[in-house]
Amino acid sequence: MSQTLKEAATFPTDMKRSEYKMVINGETVGALSNETFTVYNPATGEAVAEVPKGGKEDVDRAVEAARQSFDHGKWKRYPAGKRARVLNKIASIMRKRFNELVEIEIINSGKTLMAAQGQVMQAIEDFEFYAGAIVGHRGTVNNMPGPFFNYTQKEPIGVAGQIIPWNYPIMMAAWKIAPAIAAGCSVVLKPASLTPITAIILTEICHEAGVPAGVVNVITGPGASIGSYLVEHKGVDKVAFTGETATGKDIMAKASETLKRVTLELGGKSPNLVFPDADIDGAVDGSLFGIFYNTGQSCEARSRLFIHESIYDEFMEKFIDKTKKLKLGDPMSQDTHIGAIINQGQLDKIHQYVETAKKEGATVVTGGESVKVDGYENGYWYAPTVITNVTNDMTVAQEEIFGPVVVVMTFKDEKEAVKLANDTKYGLAAAIWAKDQGLIKRVSDGIQAGIIMVNSPFSAFPGTPFGGYKQSGFGRELSIESLDLYTETKSVLSYTGAKPLNPFNL
Ligand code: NAP
Repeated sequence: MSQTLKEAATFPTDMKRSEYKMVINGETVGALSNETFTVYNPATGEAVAEVPKGGKEDVDRAVEAARQSFDHGKWKRYPAGKRARVLNKIASIMRKRFNELVEIEIINSGKTLMAAQGQVMQAIEDFEFYAGAIVGHRGTVNNMPGPFFNYTQKEPIGVAGQIIPWNYPIMMAAWKIAPAIAAGCSVVLKPASLTPITAIILTEICHEAGVPAGVVNVITGPGASIGSYLVEHKGVDKVAFTGETATGKDIMAKASETLKRVTLELGGKSPNLVFPDADIDGAVDGSLFGIFYNTGQSCEARSRLFIHESIYDEFMEKFIDKTKKLKLGDPMSQDTHIGAIINQGQLDKIHQYVETAKKEGATVVTGGESVKVDGYENGYWYAPTVITNVTNDMTVAQEEIFGPVVVVMTFKDEKEAVKLANDTKYGLAAAIWAKDQGLIKRVSDGIQAGIIMVNSPFSAFPGTPFGGYKQSGFGRELSIESLDLYTETKSVLSYTGAKPLNPFNL
């Protein structure tokens, strides 16, 4: 199959629609099978829109479009500054339509206004960051002995297959698309089936801003079939995946067949350590945010709370009191702290973990049940939950729950804190609450995690590398390092003597 490169079509101006399409080769298209599936609002349980249920044949045409645009198109040949201008234009269109993007994100994910506003803003800033970063992204000139000259240059890897989860739909799309296209790659993005809408809209915005047809394609449909097929596809050079660790392992195995470059941003069970000299009130507020932000549906959720035994009672009294004050309800309200759980399956999974904790001897001190929220009776809601009497070998301390559930443990000293923090297969993030700078440095050094937060609940800003150790994956996003992961380094070695060398002396 061969497609000619073309200028992008124009897209519907309304962001709120009853039907969305995939974007392939600059055009809005349905699945070749004409099949669709329905996406829902988790806060209300209501249907939001129909989306194409893409099949393998749709993956083929999306990859072909990306391949053509990469192999024969102009995008990667643009000077970096010109690509940067387009990325800035994407950001500027998003800024103009900020409120609409926030609203759609809330409708499709059930997250709160505060969370959606922050995440859309970060998506915008990602494009701005990479617009700046790509201009300064360059190779090296290396010292050589004798009459040799060596330089390296960064070249885009090619076609990137990108697969993202449902918890941060537009932010994950931006984390993936922005560095890839800044580097000159073409992409085929597959959003999660539960939350595909803002990724589709972002792809449309890319075209409106001047990204040529075929450079950014979005396909929708079941990950187990089309995601998997995208990973195996011979036309794809690199796979960038964010999602569960189990899915990541499957992807890594499949990508090995064609030796694709792979980056994996996977699950977490991040520790939150509170030391005796911490500002207790600040640590309570930060720890609360660390677990309950985004309704606990965060890869970097600090879901294991370790408190020094000397401050446990004071800390817990305040922490439980504030947990009980968290407000569930209208996601569009600025006062709401906790949004909806993504769907019934996830709600059941969370509750199952809480039941397992009880069976294993832990105590649920608050929450521990799904709740009905006035005006949102058909949505999926779970009470913010605190579990104590936990040991680090229990199921709830080892497995990612991905909901508003925190397990609490104590530690005696710094050594034990680090040991417990590292006693997990994951290594995404960790938070330290303390004042002693020496202790902070030692603990930061000792923890096996890609992101350490010190006296801060925030883990992700454009420019700061984001990614995991151990089974939380590998590769870094959000930072200059991502540009390296979308480029190959070519080393050019020249002999500068008057006459070529004759090493065999023949
Ligand atoms: P998931 O089930 O692994 O799905 C993620 C994406 O992969 C979805 O688009 C899914 O498509 C697709 N997919 C499913 N099976 C596939 C397969 N066999 N081959 C290729 N693609 C496949 O994860 P999730 O439940 O959406 O997201 C939650 C997970 O993401 C958590 O573990 C969380 O920690 C992790 N996460 C990590 C980071 C990070 O930066 N480390 C950030 C956010 C989230 P369908 O939706 O169609 O099934």
